[in-house]
Amino acid sequence: MLTCEQVAQLISESLDRKLPLRKRLAVRTHYLFCKACPQFEKQVRFMRDALRQFQDRVESVESFFATPLSSEIRERMKQALSQAAGDMGSGEM
Ligand SMILES: [Zn+2]
Repeated sequence: MLTCEQVAQLISESLDRKLPLRKRLAVRTHYLFCKACPQFEKQVRFMRDALRQFQDRVESVESFFATPLSSEIRERMKQALSQAAGDMGSGEM
């Protein structure tokens, strides 16, 4: 059985490339017992997509966060981050 930490690692790997079936199944199995990790994956994917959307406009994450235009996205990301952190903290297996 994977720990939440291992699952978080696999989630970030899965953003770059497709995971092998065995690992995907292990993550899915973990999701049956854990509410925090699927939530975490959702947040991470949302942030990845948001960054992708803006990456032609900004040069780095720092300038992304300094861009006044993105204040609404920034708020949502801040909420997503703190929510994910809270979920991970209380989501002990
Ligand atoms: Zn978990």
